[in-house]
Amino acid sequence: MTFKELGLTEPILKALEEQGYTNPTPIQEQSIPILLKGKDLLGVAQTGTGKTAAFGIPILHHLYERISLRDNKRKVKALVVTPTRELAIQIGENFTAYGKHTGLRNTVIFGGVKQAKQVNALKSGVDILIATPGRLLDLMNQGFITFRDLEFVVLDEADQMLDMGFIHDIKKIIAKLPSKRQSLFFSATMPKTIVELSRKMLGDFERVTIKPEQATAEKVAQGVYFVSKANKPKLLIHLLKDRAEDSVLVFSRTKHGANKIVKKLDQAGIRSAAIHGNKSQTARQKALGAFKEGTLKVLVATDIAARGIDVDDLALVINFDLPNVSETYVHRIGRTGRANASGIALSFCMAEERPYLKDIEKLIKQQVPRLGDHPYMDEASEQETVVRKPSQKSRNNSSRNQNRSGNSNRNKNRNRNRNKNRNRNRNNNNTSTNTSS
Ligand code: AMP
Repeated sequence: MTFKELGLTEPILKALEEQGYTNPTPIQEQSIPILLKGKDLLGVAQTGTGKTAAFGIPILHHLYERISLRDNKRKVKALVVTPTRELAIQIGENFTAYGKHTGLRNTVIFGGVKQAKQVNALKSGVDILIATPGRLLDLMNQGFITFRDLEFVVLDEADQMLDMGFIHDIKKIIAKLPSKRQSLFFSATMPKTIVELSRKMLGDFERVTIKPEQATAEKVAQGVYFVSKANKPKLLIHLLKDRAEDSVLVFSRTKHGANKIVKKLDQAGIRSAAIHGNKSQTARQKALGAFKEGTLKVLVATDIAARGIDVDDLALVINFDLPNVSETYVHRIGRTGRANASGIALSFCMAEERPYLKDIEKLIKQQVPRLGDHPYMDEASEQETVVRKPSQKSRNNSSRNQNRSGNSNRNKNRNRNRNKNRNRNRNNNNTSTNTSS
């Protein structure tokens, strides 16, 4: 299946070609025909599946085909509501890229910054509005936005909106939209509240489900290091030193933890930046921009801040902490291996995190290969690694991982290296004790 066969208008096909998209992803292949027919859509899918283009392309197509027949140019005809600023900006960038030759204009509004610039953009007229719920409601209440001409509404990452406490804002926004419209509703999971919300929002709809858990887990080469809490920063530095050229996204469970990682890396001469909710919008944008451009190689992020981060050529994801919600692991490792690419995800697991690892493996229906050798093994970790007998499949995966991650240790060298490393480790510890005393 090609984009041309989906019957899309020429300016969009041209833009997709310029983006280097040759074939639609499964969610695009299934959703675009439904949306071109004008039906409502319930998409059970998450970022990383090509979801943005799945809704963005048909909206641009409809608007472009009709725009010359109408006099409502530069009135808001499509609204996309999404939970985070990063996602909103990314969606805006995608609309700009896919709509490059259509003459349609989009703008993005989100909180945490002054509203004047956003209000000016609205006043000068937009066709497509991408917004986070709080700021959207705020500007609606101030009378800066009207939805008289609205034809399309997209609710993106609905379950995330629920988690972030936006559900009431969303209900208020939906209540102010014209009833005659095409509605699109996307959520990675469908808890009861989200099912109810989707019923409220959608009319006669079709459902498309893309189950990424297993697909992502199979596409991304994974590995886990057993390591104590104290040794995690040292292992991180060890891994990053070998990969100075690669873009690496490091996940921390907490904001404070993310700051601490940046500090440790800085002390080791590795430049990095953290993004999380306590950082100013400007700082977050600056760090993310530098990371996307490749001038900043290491970005440390919390889950919420990293949601939807889309970086070409992201070589490696490192879970400095394992998430206690298994689905989060899949979201995290899905940052690498976007669309049709493959990637590498390495996780650090201390003793207290073993139950999380067990839950993750249950969800992805496979064992995450144990990466035995590293200089900061502790006794407990070694026991786990040695005692556990990996399945044939994970043994294969494990050697693939080790090769791909540049770890060239072979089994026959394992014990020798381990002893050598242990000694080196002991020496390091002695040195630091001496220095600090
Ligand atoms: P999304 O799920 O919308 O965040 O998209 C994930 C990534 O896939 C983004 O980097 C898109 O640019 C990319 N992408 C989306 N559709 C395609 C496609 N048909 N071919 C190649 N890459 C795509």
